Amino acid sequence: MLQDLTHGRLENEYRPVPPLDSDYVICVRGRDILLHRSRDDTLEFPTVSQVRRWSGTWTAWGSEPLRYVFRLHGVGYYLWMGPGGKAEEPFRYEMARSLRQTVSKEVCYTAMTGWHLYNWYKNNRFCGCCGAETVHDDAERMVRCPSCGNMIFPRISPAVIVAVTSGDRLLLSRYAGRGYTNYALLAGYTEIGETIEQTVHREVFEEVGLRVKNLRYYKSQPWGVDGNVLMGFYCDLDGGDAITLDERELAMAGWYPRNALPITDDGISLTREMIRTFGEGKEPK
Ligand SMILES: [Zn+2]
Repeated sequence: MLQDLTHGRLENEYRPVPPLDSDYVICVRGRDILLHRSRDDTLEFPTVSQVRRWSGTWTAWGSEPLRYVFRLHGVGYYLWMGPGGKAEEPFRYEMARSLRQTVSKEVCYTAMTGWHLYNWYKNNRFCGCCGAETVHDDAERMVRCPSCGNMIFPRISPAVIVAVTSGDRLLLSRYAGRGYTNYALLAGYTEIGETIEQTVHREVFEEVGLRVKNLRYYKSQPWGVDGNVLMGFYCDLDGGDAITLDERELAMAGWYPRNALPITDDGISLTREMIRTFGEGKEPK
């Protein structure tokens, strides 16, 4: 999956240090992220020294235009705190959502995580209670309102990915009205006041009209491009297998045999790993 790097891990702990010239900067403009794509399709973020050279005319939201976000392999990553501006060739803005097709999991993972943080910072520049400008806390990743004391922590939306099984069959679906048109598992956000298990039961019933039992937790995945943490579950059909499709959410849903699943693992998404794992008969029983 996206977060399973070959070596090392994303060090998300908030331990800000001043940027070095060779550290990387994640610059966001609308839905896009500034990257250099080489001939062999490898992608690289601009460095601090490059961004400092270009950013004379760029807009920044506050007095600290480079905000520390995380480290990977000893290199610091910073966000440009404002809309990214014009950069020199060969750097170009690439759609954040399309980066899952990139050859580098590290770039995809860091870009999606940086994107998630950027949007959280952007949406919390002002206090939702009193409208005053917020400031960053010194000790942790949190912004606070100096006027009313409101504390705002990073927002992550929990959601479930559900593999409904019936013997050697797996329920696959396709979303309605979304950019991603390939096969998927059922998925949905947790409602306030609901347990994760209740989310699984509710989403399955809402989307395909089926009852399920024997929920087995598999793995989770951060999915920054949508601001989620996804939790994957397998479960068994409980009762009849006739599907009642929620056509607002899904374009189709159907049962597929374990030995003829029509989609392969891309090494990125929890959904695809769960489908492959079922195909191999290795899902938690
Ligand atoms: Zn306030």
